[in-house]
Amino acid sequence: MSQSNDNTIPAEFLAKYRIRSITPVNEPGTIPVTVESESGSRYTVDRNAFIDRYDGGMEFRWSCTCPARKRCRHIDAVEDWLYAQALADQDYDALEIIERTV
Ligand SMILES: [Zn+2]
Repeated sequence: MSQSNDNTIPAEFLAKYRIRSITPVNEPGTIPVTVESESGSRYTVDRNAFIDRYDGGMEFRWSCTCPARKRCRHIDAVEDWLYAQALADQDYDALEIIERTV
């Protein structure tokens, strides 16, 4: 078994996205997560599954509770973090979900 690094996010990663922390709301390593910005604001980033009405395929969409209406850096940070974890764990199911997320 590989060690999970849920609670050890490198400082340079946090600095890149100008956030303080990413904390799972429920179980470690799961979504939704709480992202704390450098200003101290806390936002919840979640991922929801949708069935494509045309081809029946599953796709996923991010949401964030911050004031930005579109893609924000909180989502970018969480996606990058999950991707790094999935690569480290060789978790191909997790990687496929990331590939299907818009
Ligand atoms: Zn946001």
